[in-house]
This record gives sequence, C-alpha cells and structure tokens, in this order.
Amino acid sequence: MHNHSTCSDGLLSPTELIELAARTGADAIALTDHDTMDGLAEAQTAAKRTGIGFVPGVEISVSWGDTTLHVVGLQVDPSAPSIVAGLEAIRVGRHARAERIAAALAKLGIEGTFAGAYALAENKQMLGRTHFARHLVNAGVVKDIQAAFDKYLAKGKPAYVSHRWASLEDAVRWIKESGGTPVLAHPGRYKLKPMMRDEMLADFKRLGGEAIEVVTGSHRPEEYAHWQRLALENGFLASRGADYHGPGESPAEPGTLPQLHASLTPVWRNWAH
Ligand code: AMP
Ligand code: MN
Ligand code: MN
Ligand code: MN
Repeated sequence: MHNHSTCSDGLLSPTELIELAARTGADAIALTDHDTMDGLAEAQTAAKRTGIGFVPGVEISVSWGDTTLHVVGLQVDPSAPSIVAGLEAIRVGRHARAERIAAALAKLGIEGTFAGAYALAENKQMLGRTHFARHLVNAGVVKDIQAAFDKYLAKGKPAYVSHRWASLEDAVRWIKESGGTPVLAHPGRYKLKPMMRDEMLADFKRLGGEAIEVVTGSHRPEEYAHWQRLALENGFLASRGADYHGPGESPAEPGTLPQLHASLTPVWRNWAH
C-alpha cells in the first residue's frame, strides 16, 4: 500500500511497477507517488491487464511544526478538485527548493547538481532530494544514496534546506474530500521524542487520520511491534507497504514484507478485492 514510480522519485514506470508486483505475487498494490496522482491512470490500466488489485493513492508532503511528515491517501479520486489543486500548489515550490539545494552543494564545492538532478527527474515538477542523491552517486561524490542523505541531504546536514509543505489539516482534508483514507506514513522515520510523537498521533487523529503504517520498508523489523502497539492504543487501522522506489534502492519489493499481526485491523478491511 505504498510504492513510487517515475512520476515522483521511483525508478520504474507505473506499468513496470504493476508488472513487478504481479510477479511477486501481491494480491493488490497501491501507487502512492509524492505529491502527484499523474501515474494512477496508467497504473490502473496495467493492473486491469495483469489482474492484480489496484488502489489509487498519493503520498503528501506535510509540514507539522518543524517536522516534515508524509501522509498517504489511499483510494483517492484523482479527479477530486481540492486534492488536485492542493497537490499542484505543493509541487510549485519544488523547483525553487531544488535551486537552493544546488546552491548549498555548490558552496561545498560540488557544482552542477541542479542540471544533474533535473536530468534524472522524469517528471520535472517533482524534482526532489532522491534525484540529487542519485546524481551525487553517478558523479562519484558519494558511494550510495544513503551516503548522499547522511552526508548532505538529510535534515541537519549542510545541503538540507527547510521547506514549507502542506499543513496536516489540509492534507487530511484533501484526502477525505476525495473519498480516500488518510494513513500516516512510516511514523518511525520522524525521530520524535515520545511526547511529540504522541502529539503527532493525537493531532492526526483529531484532524481525521484513520490509519498508520506499521509494517513498512521504512521501519526496521524490530520497530514493527512498537508501532503495532501504538496503532492499537490510539485506535488506528494499520497499513503495510514496501515504500518501494526501485531495483537496488529499497529493502523490500512490493508484496514481500511480513503480514500485519492478527491483532491489527488492516486499512483495507472493507475494500472489495
Ligand atoms: P523530498 O520530498 O524531495 O524531500 O524527498 C523525500 C524522499 O527522499 C523520500 O521519499 C525518500 O525517498 C528519500 N529520503 C529521505 N530521507 C532519506 C534517507 N535518510 N535515506 C534515503 N532516502 C531518503
Ligand atoms: Mn521517495
Ligand atoms: Mn515517505
Ligand atoms: Mn514513500
């Protein structure tokens, strides 16, 4: 229930992603590109052809205080006006942000990264840090994507630039207005202390959030039990998703992570196959 394509920062086209998921034996797959629903129509068509269940989705970038959160919307309607307009507004800021990232890298003596990242982004509106990371690997500046984030691009590192994304309230509202279910993506990634973490979960719930990811390629397996407990304690449905970005870049292929524990209610509980 969480995968990317070349419409954002994935390496496979929507069709290639669906074909891969069909090969791994997944019953169903969601496409959840960052801040765009551009790939959903193509993925839908490929899913029909291969017979795999398809869930149209999106992963919305959110600013919650100083923390960037990701909210996945599942079963969204890509023609709903408020989410279409909202995502468009978020994407507009990405170009200027990328110029600031490139300027920060230039200051460190690493030139030409805007052009390098831009060339790697298939959807030019969706230029993001992953494209910079891939360029830095290709240019021989770092040995792998993880090193690019650890050394330059992650929060607190010298080429990190802060950016204002959607509010949590707007992101949840757009998803609900499009008939979708709001899911807090990879809650373990935000490195919040327990008090802030509880506040995040409470805010999400109060605004209409319905589920959190428990089993995700962005959590270490030893974290699953922790988020399982928090899902149960806070009355959230649970989701499971690879957060797949492409061959060689993600720990798990779609459909290959462990099942959710039987005590959890899956977010897909009422969905027709
Ligand atoms: P952006 O929306 O441009 O800030 O890019 C966010 C994307 O960068 C995430 O969806 C991941 O694909 C990737 N990313 C963020 N942090 C890391 C990290 N520490 N290691 C590897 N990839 C990361
Ligand atoms: Mn990504
Ligand atoms: Mn994410
Ligand atoms: Mn993701």
